[in-house]
Amino acid sequence: MKATDKLIKAIDKKLERFDPLWQAEHGVGGFRSRYYDKTGVAKYREWRGVKDTFYDYSQWLKNLGSMAMMVGSAPIPCLKGFWEYRWMGSYLGTFMFIDRLFEGYRGYELRIAHMNMHAIVQSLTKKIALVLANDRRFGGGPLTDRMVPMDEVLPPLFMAGFKDLIPVPLQTLPEFIICDIDQHIEPYYIDVAESYGLPADVCSRCAAETGVAIDDAFPIFGKAFLTTNMPCNASEATSMFQRRRIKLPDQPVTMAMIHNEPGAHPYSTGELKNAIAFIEKEYGVKYDWDALFERARHMNEQNLIELEKWDILKTPYSALAGIAETLYRLYSWASVNGQEDYFTETDRKVIKLMRKAYEEKYQPFQGKTRHRAFLWGPSAVYYTDFPTWVQNCWGINIVLNMDSTMGHNMISTDDPEQAIQDLALFSEKAVMRHHAVGGWDNVNAIWEWAKNFNCDMVLFNDNVACKGMNGVHALMEEQARELGFHFIFIEHDLEDSRTVSRQEMRKCVNNYMSVVLGEQPLDPTIVEFDDSAAY
Ligand code: SF4
Repeated sequence: MKATDKLIKAIDKKLERFDPLWQAEHGVGGFRSRYYDKTGVAKYREWRGVKDTFYDYSQWLKNLGSMAMMVGSAPIPCLKGFWEYRWMGSYLGTFMFIDRLFEGYRGYELRIAHMNMHAIVQSLTKKIALVLANDRRFGGGPLTDRMVPMDEVLPPLFMAGFKDLIPVPLQTLPEFIICDIDQHIEPYYIDVAESYGLPADVCSRCAAETGVAIDDAFPIFGKAFLTTNMPCNASEATSMFQRRRIKLPDQPVTMAMIHNEPGAHPYSTGELKNAIAFIEKEYGVKYDWDALFERARHMNEQNLIELEKWDILKTPYSALAGIAETLYRLYSWASVNGQEDYFTETDRKVIKLMRKAYEEKYQPFQGKTRHRAFLWGPSAVYYTDFPTWVQNCWGINIVLNMDSTMGHNMISTDDPEQAIQDLALFSEKAVMRHHAVGGWDNVNAIWEWAKNFNCDMVLFNDNVACKGMNGVHALMEEQARELGFHFIFIEHDLEDSRTVSRQEMRKCVNNYMSVVLGEQPLDPTIVEFDDSAAY
């Protein structure tokens, strides 16, 4: 052993009492010990041993660098953004959010988690700068007329054929991503929507989007807007409210609802063709198939790597785990969708590390996993740091989330007609559409997914206001019993943490683990705690 390694080992031994994993094991504290009560504010950084603490800190600085570049590249628009948009302030919670996401991560899983997270941070910060620097509310910018606002649930890959245009998922910045970082931001927009007369029993995601529109908190750019019916009827309604406030010519891209039927694809293909024709007309540009093929190659490569990741995820030796997998796939698929090289490069690096860890038979989380769970859950799993908490508290490893199962078919890279058909199939399998409202086959597929990934447990998020899913509640319970899965319904109100708090969500798991399974927590400090004031 080298002298430096010996020294590091000695320091690690000396300071191990500050490591929350060690504290929980020895009954002298744990993950919650370093927080101020009720908040997500930690008194000091997590001690993970010399190497991991310094690695983690270097990544913190790297993310800080991306934020500084964002402000540096558009200082005045960023200042105006903070002044104009309530949601901009919520981004200040990003560092706390990331720190909480990776609690308990060490070694390979920590490195992969940070690679994935930095890909998101560098992409998102560039998008914020781009949008604010070209926002018509602040006077517009050089790219305002080349940007195309589109509904975030519509996968933007097909827009790559417009090589001089910049498609931007409109709701991602003020609503979709920020609700994961700050549990207190969307209730404000939900209240705005309700005081306008919207009923209070609709899905909180759609209510929040509507509130953002009514509050005039969507940045305005582009010449025309692509809306969609995806994923559900509640989304259709919010598209209508947005169209009235945004006041740009719009084209609703209405993809087939029950898309597993063969007859659905010609219809969805036609919808994509109509959208392309609409953009050609409104922006006066011509679609370039070669430009599409170039980006489709990236998406295909990412999806091929994803399939290899799945093979490793089926084993106990996957260094890609929990929230590092779910959140990355959600952002890289739904918001980037093959259009940024950085994500292909990140995937190449991550799969290399995953192969290495697999060959070494490396088990993440010090091999403390007791159960392998398939998660069927949307945004509420992120602002609660749910996959991280459930591993640290009960040893439940979230192997894969429903968001990761989105379109993974290959797109033709040489035949325009085949490519647009492939894109239709790919687009139908977007966020929530094929999980919640795409027909019974898609919901029922969860058992097959869980079996294929060697899971003994299924965690099913029960959005109390999702009309699509409320009807299947009892059916899922019955099937879980028949098939022999441990099955937990986790109630939540998606983006409204007032209806069902984070602690109440955790309680659903606590009750099952302690009463039904009679298990002891790995870390008693995080079984029951109040984080209602946290970001
Ligand atoms: S949670 Fe349900 S109601 Fe809300 S957007 Fe998703 S599918 Fe629609």
